[in-house]
Amino acid sequence: MEISLVERIRGGIVGMLVGDALGVPYEFHDKQSIPFFDEIEFEPPDWFRRAHVGVPPGTYSDDGAQALCLLASLLECGKFDVGDFANKIVAWYREDYMAVDSVFDVGIQTQRAILNLRKGFSPLLAGPSEENKNGNGSLMRVLPLALWHQGSDLDLIADAFDQSAVTHGHLRSKLCCALYCLWARNILQNAENAWDSAVEKLYEVFPEGTIERNELENQISPKDTIYEVRGSGYVVDSLRAARWANNNKSYEETVKAAIALGDDTDTTACIAGGFAGIKFGINGIPERWRNNLRGKEIYEPLIEKLIEKVC
Ligand SMILES: [Mg+2]
Repeated sequence: MEISLVERIRGGIVGMLVGDALGVPYEFHDKQSIPFFDEIEFEPPDWFRRAHVGVPPGTYSDDGAQALCLLASLLECGKFDVGDFANKIVAWYREDYMAVDSVFDVGIQTQRAILNLRKGFSPLLAGPSEENKNGNGSLMRVLPLALWHQGSDLDLIADAFDQSAVTHGHLRSKLCCALYCLWARNILQNAENAWDSAVEKLYEVFPEGTIERNELENQISPKDTIYEVRGSGYVVDSLRAARWANNNKSYEETVKAAIALGDDTDTTACIAGGFAGIKFGINGIPERWRNNLRGKEIYEPLIEKLIEKVC
């Protein structure tokens, strides 16, 4: 059945938030201790020692809230404005902006970047950029950029880089964000070989000999067809996990596969789920999850505005 652009965009945002919320109770558990597929729900089984005790089922976390900060900024500014986006990230942390209830999880690098921003660092230089600072914190929230963007692939790549820089300044994180955006854009347009053509696009933009190309080939290896799949908080692991999980035939199986990897379950499922939401559309997301996802008053008006803008 044909899936409309409206259904794909709605599916992308809701799919990302549902994946995040579904993964929250399972965070910090290794893959051996994650329940079987039929027991992975907003409310984990009784025997499971859930993470984030006290957070009601169906609550999205920092991933979803920061993605909504990005979406709100894009819609308000009519462009990617790095200063406005950085202000919104600080507002999220300090004033629970775009959070359901209040902030209950924050990544280490993001925390450091927010401190840098408050000290007056330029937003493009606020994110730690050492090689060991390649957590998945900028990848987890980047999807709205791909859904909103009407510019060229080159502009999308540039904005994806700057979006990352605010909290994750290393080239590896920037490249992962750009690749994910191109991949999502391809699926939004229902293109075939979405991953491969996104990779080809990046190779075209960054020819052999460039530092970007070296980083891509040596550290991200997006052309590998055999790769290890892990649910860790490392940006390359998260991107690979999303690619792997998206071999599944439904939204539900995709996010459950992501969570079954254990560890950073909310973020892996957020990244995989956003993508799967675009692919299967809003109606591909189980109704029980759509109905029980919290924060509707926050995300619904933003989705409406996004649809008005791009459809
Ligand atoms: Mg989280």
